[in-house]
Amino acid sequence: MTAPLMLTLAVLGHLLLAAHALRQGEWALCAALAALPLLLLTRRGAARLVAALALVLGALLWVDAGLGFVRLRLAFGQDWLRLALIIGGVTLASLAAGLWLLGRRAQELFHKGREVEFPQAVAFALAAVLLAVARAKASVPLLLADRFLPGSGWLEILALSLYAAWLAGAFADPARHKRLRPRVWALFSAVFFGQLLLGLLGLQDFLMTGRLHLPVPALIAAGPIFRGGGLFMAILFASTVLLVGPAWCSHLCYIGAWDDACSRLGPKLPAPVSARWRLWGRATALVLTCGGALALRLLGVDALTAVWLAAGFGLAGVGVMLVVSRRLGVMAHCTAYCPIGLAGNLLGRLIPWRVRIDLGTCTRCGTCSRACRYSALSPQDIETGTPALSCTLCGDCIGACPHDSMHYRFPGLPRPAARAAFLTLVAALSAVFLGVARI
Ligand code: SF4
Ligand code: SF4
Repeated sequence: MTAPLMLTLAVLGHLLLAAHALRQGEWALCAALAALPLLLLTRRGAARLVAALALVLGALLWVDAGLGFVRLRLAFGQDWLRLALIIGGVTLASLAAGLWLLGRRAQELFHKGREVEFPQAVAFALAAVLLAVARAKASVPLLLADRFLPGSGWLEILALSLYAAWLAGAFADPARHKRLRPRVWALFSAVFFGQLLLGLLGLQDFLMTGRLHLPVPALIAAGPIFRGGGLFMAILFASTVLLVGPAWCSHLCYIGAWDDACSRLGPKLPAPVSARWRLWGRATALVLTCGGALALRLLGVDALTAVWLAAGFGLAGVGVMLVVSRRLGVMAHCTAYCPIGLAGNLLGRLIPWRVRIDLGTCTRCGTCSRACRYSALSPQDIETGTPALSCTLCGDCIGACPHDSMHYRFPGLPRPAARAAFLTLVAALSAVFLGVARI
């Protein structure tokens, strides 16, 4: 008897929140909140947690709204008691339904996907919050839905949050993460460049601001140095690295997906140059990129010339992918050419996400080394149990190791929790980037 009653209260709680959103003029938020209880039909654990979160946050919102209404009535000398009782009842009912959804009976009822319910619910909530904040703060309509149907951005937020939850669930299995990662990454890159193409064809809605920038990662550092401003991409890159370390270069960069695809066209051969020389190559590229941008600025070189130079650098990089990466089966562009990759690797050292090898169970079979396209697992690296600096936490080696000897690590967290936390962040960011990353 309790379960039908509580589920009815949960649905009513969502519908009341939807009605409140409609009263505020947010028709799409109203539709999204009204649709949320439909997720409960899936019987998935994550749906239960998301609904519980919405109801508990909704109860807080009712307290706030109720106090506002009561103050208003008091100010006009009107009766307030009946209103306070009604809103108090709604608050308690929402809270009761939310807390019931967190309990044991609800756990039994929503038994599907129990092992990934927490990462999925967190990825959903994180993507929704990040997108909602970005949408509210942006000076232009950030989400495509808002551009074509003003106000409908909440429906896109719902869709992207569901995508984040699905990714978090799929990434939980190392072998599936290994298979899915290049596809998810390629999808993002295709959407990014597809929008750029549509924008160039005159459909301005597909561009971020209408002011074009070159999609060359080196400009994340060189652009602000040359212009003396325009830090948006640099801040986006730095915040991403602070959250997930160098995983920018294995899940989120619009160009890296090309190098990944090219490297998968050829047989995987041993890296022809040592890690030390690759590091020198990238360090030189980083110094030349930043120093070159500063020199161009000090010499007063005009913007058009700088754009041609940057385009040449970007096109040469595509050449590296097509010739070297394809032939060697490793990501030569990202591990030996692109300066931003090195910046990501170095900054990534500041945060504690790592991949580690359990030397007790590792048989030195080399399967992980063959799976690593970032040339981060030489026999010496395996002996030390630590991938080289070029590791981007892509996780391919973890999914490939037949002895379960490779793991994500974060100090203080058990291995499964470290893996779940890292990939939940990556899943949420992948969904957010799909929604907002355009030029
Ligand atoms: S190395 Fe450069 S191109 Fe490759 S993924 Fe990283 S930022 Fe992107
Ligand atoms: S060591 Fe593993 S996680 Fe790091 S880049 Fe290589 S395959 Fe990816």
